[in-house]
Amino acid sequence: MRLLVYDDDAAIGRMIVRVATSSGLDAAAVTEAAAFANIIRTNPPQIIALDLQLGETDGIEQLRVLANQHYSGALILMSGFDVRVLATARELAAGLGLNVECVLEKPIELGALEQTFERLLSAGQSPSPERVRDAIANDEMSLDFQPIVTRKPKKLVKLEALIRWDHPAIGRIPPGIFLPVAERDPATIDALTGWVVNAAVEAYQVLAELGVREPLSINMSALNLHDLEWPDRIQKHLQKGGMPASHLCLEITESSAFEDPTRTMEVLSRLRLKGMQLAIDDFGTGYSSLKVLRQMPFSELKIDQSFVKDVTTSRDSRAIVKSIVGLAANMEMSCIAEGVETEAIADLLEELGVRMLQGYLIAQPMPVESVPAWLAIWTQTATVKPSQQATATTEPPPSREPDQSAPPKSGASRPSPVPPKSDTTQLSPRQIEVLQLAAEGCSVKHIARRLNLAIGTVKIHLALAYSTLGVHNRIDAIRRAGPAVLSRMTDPDATG
Ligand code: C2E
Ligand code: CA
Ligand code: CA
Repeated sequence: MRLLVYDDDAAIGRMIVRVATSSGLDAAAVTEAAAFANIIRTNPPQIIALDLQLGETDGIEQLRVLANQHYSGALILMSGFDVRVLATARELAAGLGLNVECVLEKPIELGALEQTFERLLSAGQSPSPERVRDAIANDEMSLDFQPIVTRKPKKLVKLEALIRWDHPAIGRIPPGIFLPVAERDPATIDALTGWVVNAAVEAYQVLAELGVREPLSINMSALNLHDLEWPDRIQKHLQKGGMPASHLCLEITESSAFEDPTRTMEVLSRLRLKGMQLAIDDFGTGYSSLKVLRQMPFSELKIDQSFVKDVTTSRDSRAIVKSIVGLAANMEMSCIAEGVETEAIADLLEELGVRMLQGYLIAQPMPVESVPAWLAIWTQTATVKPSQQATATTEPPPSREPDQSAPPKSGASRPSPVPPKSDTTQLSPRQIEVLQLAAEGCSVKHIARRLNLAIGTVKIHLALAYSTLGVHNRIDAIRRAGPAVLSRMTDPDATG
């Protein structure tokens, strides 16, 4: 893949070329408009990094040059100016039909630059819609769940389902790479959303079995909203799986798909009338947010991560969050902040009136079987101090574990609300078997096949084992139970 850097500062150009080359890109830099225009005309690269201050000309003018050439590659915008200039340039570029990959503030952080190049490189090998459909059919997709909570009082409000693709050869492919591919083809994005609805209902059943009955949110592509069949289709899935419609929220990012407001409104209204919740995702980044908000029957508003991230450092972001909170309250909509990464951000958001929080500070997205044990640990953990974050997201310090409460057995019984004492002698033989296969690196799907169990049943066994062990992920469970599990496997008396 080729990269062209256009910066009038030759030293910066050289620095970017060096980073790009070591990331595996074929990179070159120019410092003058004529040379830039010549390359764009004769041999356009897949990626362009463009500075906005260029001495003889400016980046905005160069955006027009690119648009006139119908440049379709990825664009990285850079500027040492106010971030607002970058934001404006980004909008302008999007308006001109250019594809802005990211904006980088100067001085440029090497790490951010490398990450951008890596992302673009893997996107360069992006799959076809057909391959995405195959992945759905081959069970390569799964859902992770990220909690949305209030801290005062400490309560799980709902869980957002986020799709994951574990490609057998490449490994995990981020949704940011394959969703745009799926969205290129109506049949593929429909198949994907259909799969997500079905998987969410199954996860709801697993959680209900484990005593967690909170609503779930799923992400729906705005492109799905052209299909008038969706409301009935989703309702059928819910009814079949025994999930109340009010327990499903559909998160939709405002996009150009909203340009067909009559059809979109019909689909959204029918979803709402069937009892589902509707959230507008990434609020504040769309182009006609206020109009959309007035016209469409949304019940919830999710403040975009970009405002949340710098709410403590930027007066503008603080003002925006404050107005969004006011807007939501006046329109009787609930309001969620996502991308909450620090205690300071959470505190300030709460001060500004945002009660529902989502982000790495609370929890990373996790497989469904981790949720009950995570919930138990989180509920009984005192407010996490920044210095403790690393420990709190992996496993609780032993001192926090209460001694009481009988550990759950496999099957119908539910995990107690607090993590029981970690005690491998309390694991059922089935849970030990499941954990042992997990330790061998088997996926849930493989464990199910090996033990001739339903996938949901395996997830329930894993969830119960995690709760018994007082951990909420596979690695910690294996680490904590490992030797005991193995010795118990070889000592039949011990399993009872
Ligand atoms: P989103 O709906 O805005 O989801 C939030 C994204 O932010 C997720 O990325 C999540 O993992 C990430 N995130 C959560 N907390 C934090 C935090 O504290 N810091 C940071 N830096 N990131 C955080 P993910 O899972 O990669 O998903 C990216 C996007 O892909 C989603 O953004 C959503 O638009 C889309 N997506 C995910 N799953 C689905 C799906 O099932 N269907 C559709 N149509 N879109 C989906
Ligand atoms: Ca979302
Ligand atoms: Ca979002």
